[in-house]
Amino acid sequence: MSGSVTVIGLGPGDPRLLTQAAAEALERADDLIGYVPYVARVPERPGLVRHASDNRVEVDRARHALELAAAGRHVAVVSGGDPGVFAMAAAVFEAVEAGDPAWRDLAIHVEPGITAMLAAAARLGAPLGGDFCALSLSDNLKPWETILARLEAVLRADLVIALYNPISSARPWQLGRALDLAAAIRAPDTPVIFARAVSRPDEALRVLTLDEARTAPADMATVVILGASGTRLIPRTGRPPFVYTPRSVPG
Ligand code: SAH
Repeated sequence: MSGSVTVIGLGPGDPRLLTQAAAEALERADDLIGYVPYVARVPERPGLVRHASDNRVEVDRARHALELAAAGRHVAVVSGGDPGVFAMAAAVFEAVEAGDPAWRDLAIHVEPGITAMLAAAARLGAPLGGDFCALSLSDNLKPWETILARLEAVLRADLVIALYNPISSARPWQLGRALDLAAAIRAPDTPVIFARAVSRPDEALRVLTLDEARTAPADMATVVILGASGTRLIPRTGRPPFVYTPRSVPG
């Protein structure tokens, strides 16, 4: 089998935040597979066959990529941000594990990208400067009780928490519940960042208190970063404050 699958992170949006290695991998591809808006980010060129699919069919999409590769094609599977963060890389390995044993001999590579929380953090300072974690609030693939139990554990552990998939039209209430739980454990003036469409033309950044965040609007293009007890603001006139979490924690 001479085909290949490369799972490629496109970064948060700005093409300048795509790695050189990812750009080269896109140039080598015969086929491009991904969710419609990500496929749309890759310029058309002769010889590149585009297969854009709807969201929530990740494993079907991964199988399709592996079938094409088994037939000798060089396939690029694209995700926004990093493909290993709540995205296509795990779906590809899930399909490999459950699928045709011959797929294990294919050349399969992952090209990293800048994930949303890192792009958002960099815009405002260094909110992820101490210990942190990332949670997806989507209950499409795991029970809501598991999400709440994990959230409560990391709230009590005083980690900074990046919340991916905070809300969608099918999941309108999860972020509110998550912030209610946060408010029961963390101080009302804890800094919370709502970072929307980071690095895209419609980027919007808000630095709120936890109390304000509980009623603030968010959408599926938003990543929420919930500060820990050490997270600090450096106010500036006429501009959003810097937000940072010191590396040191008092003993
Ligand atoms: N693989 C992606 C995450 C996919 S999950 C990554 O590494 O970034 C989709 C979620 O990512 C969205 O609901 C949102 O929470 C977040 N996200 C993706 N791109 C974003 C961006 N440019 N700005 C803010 N959040 C973003």
